[in-house]
Amino acid sequence: MRSLKKSNAHFQKAVSKLPLGVASNFRYWGDKKTIYVRGGKGGRIWDIDGNEYIDYRLAYGPVILGYADDRVDAAARAGMDVGGVFALATELEYKVACRISEMVPAAELVRFSNSGTEAVMAALRIARAYSGKDEHIFVEGGYHGIFNEVLWYADVKHWNPQEGKPKILPDSEGVPHLIRKITHAVPLNDANCLEDVLKKHGDRIGAFLIEPIMGNCCGISASREYMQEVRALCDRYGVVLIIDEVKTGFRVARGGVQELLGIRADLCTLAKAVANGYPISIVAGREDIMRKVGDGVVHGGTFTAHSVPLAAADKTLEILAETDALTSIAANGEELRDGIASILSARGIEHSFVGHPAMSGLFFHAEAPSNYRQWLDSDYAFYDSLAVELHELGVLVEPDSREPWFLCEAHDMKCISETLDKFEQAVDITMNKLQDKRGKRMQSGSR
Ligand code: PMP
Repeated sequence: MRSLKKSNAHFQKAVSKLPLGVASNFRYWGDKKTIYVRGGKGGRIWDIDGNEYIDYRLAYGPVILGYADDRVDAAARAGMDVGGVFALATELEYKVACRISEMVPAAELVRFSNSGTEAVMAALRIARAYSGKDEHIFVEGGYHGIFNEVLWYADVKHWNPQEGKPKILPDSEGVPHLIRKITHAVPLNDANCLEDVLKKHGDRIGAFLIEPIMGNCCGISASREYMQEVRALCDRYGVVLIIDEVKTGFRVARGGVQELLGIRADLCTLAKAVANGYPISIVAGREDIMRKVGDGVVHGGTFTAHSVPLAAADKTLEILAETDALTSIAANGEELRDGIASILSARGIEHSFVGHPAMSGLFFHAEAPSNYRQWLDSDYAFYDSLAVELHELGVLVEPDSREPWFLCEAHDMKCISETLDKFEQAVDITMNKLQDKRGKRMQSGSR
Protein backbone atom coordinates (compact mmCIF):
# COMPACT_ATOMS: atom_id res chain seq x y z
CA MET A 1 0.00 0.00 0.00
CA ARG A 2 1.19 3.49 -0.85
CA SER A 3 1.76 5.62 2.21
CA LEU A 4 0.20 9.10 2.33
CA LYS A 5 1.33 9.69 5.91
CA LYS A 6 3.00 13.03 5.23
CA SER A 7 0.23 14.25 2.92
CA ASN A 8 -2.36 13.32 5.55
CA ALA A 9 -0.41 15.13 8.28
CA HIS A 10 -0.02 18.15 6.05
CA PHE A 11 -3.72 18.12 5.27
CA GLN A 12 -4.48 18.55 8.98
CA LYS A 13 -2.32 21.68 9.06
CA ALA A 14 -3.49 23.04 5.72
CA VAL A 15 -7.17 22.68 6.46
CA SER A 16 -6.77 24.99 9.45
CA LYS A 17 -5.81 27.80 7.07
CA LEU A 18 -7.29 26.93 3.67
CA PRO A 19 -10.87 25.71 3.01
CA LEU A 20 -10.58 21.97 2.25
CA GLY A 21 -6.81 22.37 2.73
CA VAL A 22 -6.26 23.25 -0.92
CA ALA A 23 -6.40 26.14 -3.42
CA SER A 24 -9.07 24.66 -5.70
CA ASN A 25 -12.05 22.52 -4.60
CA PHE A 26 -11.19 19.86 -7.19
CA ARG A 27 -7.82 19.18 -5.51
CA TYR A 28 -9.46 17.90 -2.36
CA TRP A 29 -9.83 14.13 -2.70
CA GLY A 30 -10.86 13.39 0.89
CA ASP A 31 -9.22 13.91 4.29
CA LYS A 32 -7.04 10.79 3.82
CA LYS A 33 -6.58 10.93 0.08
CA THR A 34 -5.57 14.50 -0.68
CA ILE A 35 -2.10 14.55 -2.21
CA TYR A 36 0.47 17.29 -1.69
CA VAL A 37 3.04 17.50 -4.46
CA ARG A 38 6.78 17.93 -4.01
CA GLY A 39 7.47 18.49 -7.69
CA GLY A 40 7.19 17.25 -11.24
CA LYS A 41 9.51 16.59 -14.15
CA GLY A 42 8.60 15.31 -17.60
CA GLY A 43 5.52 13.11 -17.38
CA ARG A 44 5.94 12.30 -13.68
CA ILE A 45 5.23 13.90 -10.34
CA TRP A 46 6.30 13.06 -6.78
CA ASP A 47 4.28 13.66 -3.64
CA ILE A 48 5.71 14.71 -0.27
CA ASP A 49 5.69 11.07 0.87
CA GLY A 50 8.06 10.26 -2.00
CA ASN A 51 5.46 8.35 -4.08
CA GLU A 52 6.12 8.62 -7.79
CA TYR A 53 3.29 8.86 -10.31
CA ILE A 54 3.12 8.80 -14.07
CA ASP A 55 0.71 11.69 -14.39
CA TYR A 56 -2.14 11.68 -16.92
CA ARG A 57 -4.00 14.54 -15.27
CA LEU A 58 -1.23 16.96 -16.22
CA ALA A 59 -2.84 19.73 -14.19
CA TYR A 60 -6.06 19.20 -16.26
CA GLY A 61 -4.21 19.61 -19.51
CA PRO A 62 -1.80 22.54 -19.60
CA VAL A 63 1.35 20.47 -19.49
CA ILE A 64 1.80 19.66 -23.17
CA LEU A 65 5.57 19.19 -23.30
CA GLY A 66 6.22 17.90 -19.78
CA TYR A 67 6.66 19.33 -16.30
CA ALA A 68 9.59 21.73 -15.83
CA ASP A 69 10.47 21.65 -19.51
CA ASP A 70 14.01 23.09 -19.76
CA ARG A 71 13.31 24.98 -23.00
CA VAL A 72 10.17 26.71 -21.74
CA ASP A 73 11.55 27.37 -18.28
CA ALA A 74 14.66 29.06 -19.71
CA ALA A 75 12.39 31.35 -21.74
CA ALA A 76 10.24 32.04 -18.67
CA ARG A 77 13.35 32.95 -16.67
CA ALA A 78 14.32 35.41 -19.38
CA GLY A 79 10.76 36.73 -19.19
CA MET A 80 11.31 37.35 -15.49
CA ASP A 81 14.22 39.67 -16.30
CA VAL A 82 11.82 41.86 -18.29
CA GLY A 83 10.11 42.88 -15.07
CA GLY A 84 6.65 41.31 -14.88
CA VAL A 85 3.78 43.74 -15.38
CA PHE A 86 3.81 47.48 -16.01
CA ALA A 87 0.22 48.46 -16.70
CA LEU A 88 1.68 49.08 -20.16
CA ALA A 89 2.14 46.84 -23.18
CA THR A 90 5.32 45.07 -24.34
CA GLU A 91 6.37 44.19 -27.89
CA LEU A 92 6.22 40.46 -27.29
CA GLU A 93 2.41 40.56 -27.14
CA TYR A 94 2.27 41.24 -30.88
CA LYS A 95 4.72 38.45 -31.68
CA VAL A 96 2.78 35.89 -29.65
CA ALA A 97 -0.53 37.11 -31.12
CA CYS A 98 0.92 36.56 -34.63
CA ARG A 99 2.00 33.03 -33.71
CA ILE A 100 -1.55 32.31 -32.49
CA SER A 101 -3.17 33.68 -35.66
CA GLU A 102 -0.85 31.55 -37.79
CA MET A 103 -1.75 28.39 -35.93
CA VAL A 104 -5.48 29.12 -35.41
CA PRO A 105 -6.89 30.90 -38.48
CA ALA A 106 -10.08 31.97 -36.68
CA ALA A 107 -7.92 34.01 -34.31
CA GLU A 108 -7.77 37.10 -36.50
CA LEU A 109 -7.43 39.37 -33.47
CA VAL A 110 -6.17 38.30 -30.08
CA ARG A 111 -6.42 39.46 -26.47
CA PHE A 112 -4.64 37.86 -23.49
CA SER A 113 -6.10 36.99 -20.08
CA ASN A 114 -4.81 34.86 -17.21
CA SER A 115 -7.15 31.87 -16.92
CA GLY A 116 -9.62 29.91 -18.99
CA THR A 117 -12.42 31.34 -16.89
CA GLU A 118 -11.42 34.89 -17.74
CA ALA A 119 -11.11 34.12 -21.45
CA VAL A 120 -14.57 32.52 -21.67
CA MET A 121 -16.04 35.36 -19.59
CA ALA A 122 -14.60 37.84 -22.07
CA ALA A 123 -15.80 35.83 -25.07
CA LEU A 124 -19.38 35.76 -23.79
CA ARG A 125 -19.32 39.47 -23.07
CA ILE A 126 -17.94 40.30 -26.51
CA ALA A 127 -20.55 38.02 -28.11
CA ARG A 128 -23.37 39.75 -26.23
CA ALA A 129 -22.08 43.15 -27.19
CA TYR A 130 -21.69 42.21 -30.84
CA SER A 131 -25.02 40.41 -31.22
CA GLY A 132 -26.97 42.74 -28.94
CA LYS A 133 -28.54 39.63 -27.34
CA ASP A 134 -28.02 38.53 -23.72
CA GLU A 135 -28.84 34.82 -23.69
CA HIS A 136 -26.56 31.91 -24.53
CA ILE A 137 -26.68 28.18 -25.10
CA PHE A 138 -24.22 25.63 -23.71
CA VAL A 139 -23.86 21.90 -24.29
CA GLU A 140 -24.95 19.38 -21.64
CA GLY A 141 -21.89 18.06 -19.81
CA GLY A 142 -19.82 21.08 -20.79
CA TYR A 143 -17.61 23.00 -18.40
CA HIS A 144 -16.37 26.49 -19.07
CA GLY A 145 -14.94 27.79 -15.81
CA ILE A 146 -16.13 29.26 -12.55
CA PHE A 147 -17.85 32.55 -13.35
CA ASN A 148 -21.56 32.99 -12.76
CA GLU A 149 -22.90 32.66 -16.32
CA VAL A 150 -21.33 29.24 -16.89
CA LEU A 151 -21.64 27.66 -13.45
CA TRP A 152 -24.75 25.77 -14.55
CA TYR A 153 -25.23 22.15 -15.45
CA ALA A 154 -27.87 20.00 -17.05
CA ASP A 155 -28.94 17.47 -14.42
CA VAL A 156 -28.75 14.44 -16.66
CA LYS A 157 -28.20 12.08 -13.71
CA HIS A 158 -31.66 12.68 -12.28
CA TRP A 159 -33.39 13.25 -15.58
CA ASN A 160 -36.50 11.38 -16.63
CA PRO A 161 -36.68 11.41 -20.46
CA GLN A 162 -40.49 11.31 -20.24
CA GLU A 163 -40.40 14.76 -18.67
CA GLY A 164 -38.72 16.67 -21.50
CA LYS A 165 -35.25 18.10 -21.07
CA PRO A 166 -32.92 17.73 -18.07
CA LYS A 167 -33.21 20.55 -15.53
CA ILE A 168 -30.57 23.26 -15.61
CA LEU A 169 -29.20 23.77 -12.10
CA PRO A 170 -26.52 25.99 -10.59
CA ASP A 171 -23.19 24.30 -9.90
CA SER A 172 -22.49 26.44 -6.88
CA GLU A 173 -24.27 28.32 -4.18
CA GLY A 174 -23.93 32.04 -4.59
CA VAL A 175 -24.62 32.01 -8.32
CA PRO A 176 -27.47 34.47 -8.90
CA HIS A 177 -30.62 32.54 -9.81
CA LEU A 178 -31.57 35.30 -12.23
CA ILE A 179 -28.89 34.00 -14.61
CA ARG A 180 -30.95 30.84 -15.14
CA LYS A 181 -33.18 32.96 -17.37
CA ILE A 182 -30.41 33.64 -19.87
CA THR A 183 -29.13 30.06 -20.04
CA HIS A 184 -30.16 27.21 -22.35
CA ALA A 185 -28.66 23.73 -22.72
CA VAL A 186 -28.67 21.27 -25.62
CA PRO A 187 -27.29 17.74 -26.03
CA LEU A 188 -24.20 17.38 -28.22
CA ASN A 189 -24.58 16.11 -31.78
CA ASP A 190 -28.28 16.93 -32.05
CA ALA A 191 -28.70 19.78 -34.51
CA ASN A 192 -32.51 19.46 -34.44
CA CYS A 193 -32.56 20.21 -30.76
CA LEU A 194 -30.31 23.23 -31.28
CA GLU A 195 -32.57 24.44 -34.05
CA ASP A 196 -35.66 24.04 -31.84
CA VAL A 197 -34.11 26.23 -29.17
CA LEU A 198 -33.07 28.80 -31.75
CA LYS A 199 -36.51 28.83 -33.35
CA LYS A 200 -38.08 29.56 -29.98
CA HIS A 201 -35.51 31.92 -28.48
CA GLY A 202 -33.18 32.90 -31.33
CA ASP A 203 -34.13 36.57 -31.07
CA ARG A 204 -32.67 36.60 -27.54
CA ILE A 205 -29.71 34.24 -27.96
CA GLY A 206 -26.39 35.90 -28.67
CA ALA A 207 -23.93 33.03 -28.29
CA PHE A 208 -23.52 29.28 -28.59
CA LEU A 209 -20.72 28.05 -26.36
CA ILE A 210 -19.30 24.66 -27.26
CA GLU A 211 -16.29 22.44 -26.66
CA PRO A 212 -16.40 20.13 -29.70
CA ILE A 213 -14.18 17.64 -27.86
CA MET A 214 -15.63 17.79 -24.38
CA GLY A 215 -12.57 17.99 -22.18
CA ASN A 216 -14.66 17.74 -19.05
CA CYS A 217 -16.94 14.98 -20.24
CA CYS A 218 -14.78 12.02 -21.25
CA GLY A 219 -13.69 13.73 -24.45
CA ILE A 220 -17.07 13.01 -26.04
CA SER A 221 -16.79 14.55 -29.49
CA ALA A 222 -18.90 16.44 -31.95
CA SER A 223 -19.05 15.03 -35.45
CA ARG A 224 -17.85 17.11 -38.40
CA GLU A 225 -21.39 17.11 -39.80
CA TYR A 226 -22.84 18.39 -36.54
CA MET A 227 -20.30 21.22 -36.42
CA GLN A 228 -21.19 22.18 -40.00
CA GLU A 229 -24.85 22.32 -39.00
CA VAL A 230 -23.96 24.33 -35.90
CA ARG A 231 -22.04 26.79 -38.07
CA ALA A 232 -24.99 27.20 -40.44
CA LEU A 233 -27.55 27.59 -37.62
CA CYS A 234 -25.42 30.20 -35.83
CA ASP A 235 -25.14 32.15 -39.09
CA ARG A 236 -28.85 31.86 -39.77
CA TYR A 237 -29.92 33.05 -36.30
CA GLY A 238 -27.25 35.72 -35.79
CA VAL A 239 -25.60 33.78 -32.96
CA VAL A 240 -21.88 34.13 -32.21
CA LEU A 241 -20.26 30.68 -32.28
CA ILE A 242 -17.77 30.48 -29.41
CA ILE A 243 -15.54 27.42 -29.54
CA ASP A 244 -14.00 26.85 -26.13
CA GLU A 245 -10.55 25.42 -26.85
CA VAL A 246 -9.21 25.92 -23.34
CA LYS A 247 -8.35 22.21 -23.27
CA THR A 248 -8.13 21.28 -26.95
CA GLY A 249 -6.17 24.32 -28.14
CA PHE A 250 -2.55 23.60 -29.13
CA ARG A 251 -3.12 19.99 -28.03
CA VAL A 252 -5.26 18.00 -30.47
CA ALA A 253 -3.67 19.78 -33.44
CA ARG A 254 -1.68 22.97 -33.98
CA GLY A 255 -4.93 24.62 -34.94
CA GLY A 256 -6.86 22.81 -32.20
CA VAL A 257 -10.21 21.14 -32.63
CA GLN A 258 -11.13 23.71 -35.29
CA GLU A 259 -8.39 22.29 -37.53
CA LEU A 260 -9.36 18.74 -36.67
CA LEU A 261 -13.06 19.19 -37.51
CA GLY A 262 -12.66 21.74 -40.28
CA ILE A 263 -14.70 24.39 -38.50
CA ARG A 264 -14.12 28.09 -37.93
CA ALA A 265 -15.34 29.80 -34.78
CA ASP A 266 -16.50 33.40 -34.55
CA LEU A 267 -14.70 33.59 -31.21
CA CYS A 268 -12.49 31.03 -29.56
CA THR A 269 -10.84 30.69 -26.21
CA LEU A 270 -7.44 29.08 -25.70
CA ALA A 271 -5.52 28.58 -22.52
CA LYS A 272 -4.01 25.52 -21.04
CA ALA A 273 -1.38 24.19 -23.43
CA VAL A 274 -0.37 27.59 -24.76
CA ALA A 275 2.42 28.09 -22.23
CA ASN A 276 3.03 24.56 -20.93
CA GLY A 277 1.43 25.42 -17.59
CA TYR A 278 2.31 29.08 -17.10
CA PRO A 279 -0.87 31.07 -16.50
CA ILE A 280 -2.02 32.79 -19.66
CA SER A 281 -5.19 32.51 -21.73
CA ILE A 282 -6.54 33.95 -24.94
CA VAL A 283 -9.79 35.19 -26.34
CA ALA A 284 -9.56 35.55 -30.08
CA GLY A 285 -11.69 35.67 -33.16
CA ARG A 286 -13.14 37.39 -36.17
CA GLU A 287 -11.84 40.90 -36.63
CA ASP A 288 -15.22 42.67 -36.77
CA ILE A 289 -16.34 40.95 -33.56
CA MET A 290 -13.05 41.42 -31.69
CA ARG A 291 -13.01 45.14 -32.62
CA LYS A 292 -15.86 45.52 -30.12
CA VAL A 293 -13.08 45.30 -27.52
CA GLY A 294 -12.13 48.89 -26.94
CA ASP A 295 -15.23 50.02 -28.82
CA GLY A 296 -17.72 49.52 -26.05
CA VAL A 297 -16.46 46.32 -24.44
CA VAL A 298 -14.12 46.41 -21.47
CA HIS A 299 -11.33 43.86 -21.36
CA GLY A 300 -8.08 43.86 -19.42
CA GLY A 301 -6.65 43.12 -16.00
CA THR A 302 -3.56 43.95 -13.98
CA PHE A 303 -1.77 40.69 -14.72
CA THR A 304 -2.69 40.24 -18.40
CA ALA A 305 0.31 39.50 -20.63
CA HIS A 306 2.69 39.24 -17.68
CA SER A 307 6.20 38.92 -19.06
CA VAL A 308 6.84 35.45 -17.58
CA PRO A 309 3.85 33.50 -18.99
CA LEU A 310 4.04 35.52 -22.19
CA ALA A 311 7.65 34.45 -22.75
CA ALA A 312 6.68 30.87 -21.87
CA ALA A 313 3.85 31.04 -24.44
CA ASP A 314 6.22 32.35 -27.10
CA LYS A 315 8.59 29.41 -26.56
CA THR A 316 5.87 26.75 -26.20
CA LEU A 317 4.15 27.88 -29.40
CA GLU A 318 7.48 27.94 -31.24
CA ILE A 319 8.10 24.33 -30.19
CA LEU A 320 4.58 23.21 -31.10
CA ALA A 321 4.69 24.96 -34.47
CA GLU A 322 8.19 23.90 -35.48
CA THR A 323 8.64 20.39 -34.09
CA ASP A 324 6.60 17.22 -34.36
CA ALA A 325 5.73 17.28 -30.64
CA LEU A 326 1.97 17.02 -31.24
CA THR A 327 2.34 14.16 -33.73
CA SER A 328 4.46 12.23 -31.30
CA ILE A 329 2.03 12.85 -28.43
CA ALA A 330 -0.83 11.56 -30.59
CA ALA A 331 1.19 8.49 -31.64
CA ASN A 332 2.07 7.63 -28.04
CA GLY A 333 -1.55 8.21 -27.08
CA GLU A 334 -2.56 5.65 -29.73
CA GLU A 335 -0.05 3.16 -28.29
CA LEU A 336 -1.55 3.65 -24.86
CA ARG A 337 -5.07 3.15 -26.20
CA ASP A 338 -4.04 0.00 -28.10
CA GLY A 339 -2.37 -1.46 -25.02
CA ILE A 340 -5.35 -0.67 -22.79
CA ALA A 341 -7.73 -2.12 -25.38
CA SER A 342 -5.89 -5.43 -25.56
CA ILE A 343 -5.72 -5.75 -21.76
CA LEU A 344 -9.46 -5.11 -21.46
CA SER A 345 -10.46 -7.25 -24.45
CA ALA A 346 -8.43 -10.19 -23.11
CA ARG A 347 -10.67 -10.06 -20.04
CA GLY A 348 -13.91 -9.57 -21.95
CA ILE A 349 -14.42 -6.05 -20.58
CA GLU A 350 -16.47 -3.87 -22.92
CA HIS A 351 -14.92 -0.48 -23.54
CA SER A 352 -14.42 2.29 -26.06
CA PHE A 353 -12.38 5.43 -26.37
CA VAL A 354 -13.57 8.92 -27.08
CA GLY A 355 -11.83 12.21 -27.69
CA HIS A 356 -8.36 12.37 -29.15
CA PRO A 357 -5.28 10.27 -28.30
CA ALA A 358 -3.75 13.38 -26.68
CA MET A 359 -6.78 13.58 -24.38
CA SER A 360 -8.51 10.22 -24.28
CA GLY A 361 -11.73 9.35 -22.56
CA LEU A 362 -11.91 5.70 -21.48
CA PHE A 363 -15.45 4.54 -21.48
CA PHE A 364 -16.73 1.20 -20.15
CA HIS A 365 -19.37 0.48 -22.77
CA ALA A 366 -18.96 -1.13 -26.19
CA GLU A 367 -20.22 1.94 -28.03
CA ALA A 368 -18.62 5.34 -27.66
CA PRO A 369 -21.12 7.92 -26.42
CA SER A 370 -22.07 10.85 -28.61
CA ASN A 371 -23.45 12.98 -25.81
CA TYR A 372 -23.45 13.28 -22.04
CA ARG A 373 -26.78 11.48 -21.70
CA GLN A 374 -25.10 8.34 -23.04
CA TRP A 375 -22.19 8.59 -20.61
CA LEU A 376 -24.65 7.44 -17.97
CA ASP A 377 -24.92 4.07 -19.76
CA SER A 378 -21.28 3.27 -19.11
CA ASP A 379 -19.92 1.34 -16.13
CA TYR A 380 -18.40 4.35 -14.47
CA ALA A 381 -18.47 2.53 -11.11
CA PHE A 382 -15.83 0.18 -12.56
CA TYR A 383 -13.80 3.19 -13.65
CA ASP A 384 -14.07 4.73 -10.18
CA SER A 385 -12.67 1.57 -8.53
CA LEU A 386 -9.98 1.18 -11.17
CA ALA A 387 -8.77 4.76 -10.71
CA VAL A 388 -8.15 4.12 -7.00
CA GLU A 389 -6.01 1.05 -7.80
CA LEU A 390 -4.07 2.99 -10.43
CA HIS A 391 -3.23 5.64 -7.84
CA GLU A 392 -1.95 2.94 -5.49
CA LEU A 393 0.31 1.63 -8.25
CA GLY A 394 1.63 5.05 -9.25
CA VAL A 395 -0.50 6.03 -12.24
CA LEU A 396 -2.34 9.28 -11.64
CA VAL A 397 -5.66 9.71 -13.42
CA GLU A 398 -8.60 11.80 -12.35
CA PRO A 399 -10.87 9.82 -9.99
CA ASP A 400 -13.84 11.11 -12.02
CA SER A 401 -14.20 9.20 -15.30
CA ARG A 402 -15.36 12.36 -17.07
CA GLU A 403 -11.85 13.79 -17.05
CA PRO A 404 -9.80 12.54 -20.01
CA TRP A 405 -6.28 11.15 -19.76
CA PHE A 406 -3.88 13.83 -20.96
CA LEU A 407 -0.57 13.06 -22.60
CA CYS A 408 2.51 15.23 -22.94
CA GLU A 409 5.61 15.00 -25.09
CA ALA A 410 7.58 13.63 -22.15
CA HIS A 411 5.30 10.59 -21.90
CA ASP A 412 7.68 8.42 -23.87
CA MET A 413 7.36 4.73 -24.63
CA LYS A 414 8.98 3.87 -21.29
CA CYS A 415 6.16 5.70 -19.49
CA ILE A 416 3.57 4.07 -21.74
CA SER A 417 4.79 0.51 -21.21
CA GLU A 418 5.16 1.06 -17.45
CA THR A 419 1.61 2.43 -17.44
CA LEU A 420 0.31 -0.61 -19.29
CA ASP A 421 1.95 -3.02 -16.82
CA LYS A 422 0.34 -1.15 -13.96
CA PHE A 423 -2.97 -0.85 -15.76
CA GLU A 424 -3.09 -4.62 -16.20
CA GLN A 425 -2.41 -5.16 -12.50
CA ALA A 426 -5.01 -2.54 -11.55
CA VAL A 427 -7.68 -4.16 -13.75
CA ASP A 428 -7.06 -7.58 -12.17
CA ILE A 429 -7.14 -6.17 -8.65
CA THR A 430 -10.37 -4.28 -9.41
CA MET A 431 -12.03 -7.34 -10.94
CA ASN A 432 -11.04 -9.51 -7.96
CA LYS A 433 -12.30 -6.96 -5.48
CA LEU A 434 -15.60 -6.58 -7.30
CA GLN A 435 -15.99 -10.38 -7.47
CA ASP A 436 -15.26 -10.67 -3.74
CA LYS A 437 -17.86 -8.01 -3.02
CA ARG A 438 -20.41 -9.80 -5.16
CA GLY A 439 -19.57 -13.14 -3.47
CA LYS A 440 -20.05 -11.63 -0.02
CA ARG A 441 -23.37 -10.11 -1.04
CA MET A 442 -24.56 -13.49 -2.37
CA GLN A 443 -23.50 -15.23 0.88
CA SER A 444 -25.33 -12.72 3.03
CA GLY A 445 -28.37 -13.03 0.76
CA SER A 446 -28.52 -9.29 0.11
CA ARG A 447 -28.88 -7.87 -3.39
N1 PMP B 1 -13.11 25.98 -20.40
C1 PMP B 1 -12.77 24.69 -20.43
C2 PMP B 1 -13.14 23.87 -21.61
C3 PMP B 1 -12.05 24.13 -19.38
O1 PMP B 1 -11.70 22.85 -19.44
C4 PMP B 1 -11.69 24.94 -18.28
C5 PMP B 1 -10.91 24.38 -17.10
N2 PMP B 1 -10.83 23.05 -16.95
C6 PMP B 1 -12.07 26.28 -18.29
C7 PMP B 1 -12.78 26.78 -19.37
C8 PMP B 1 -11.70 27.20 -17.15
O2 PMP B 1 -10.33 27.36 -17.13
P1 PMP B 1 -9.59 27.83 -15.81
O3 PMP B 1 -9.63 26.67 -14.86
O4 PMP B 1 -8.20 28.14 -16.27
O5 PMP B 1 -10.29 29.02 -15.28
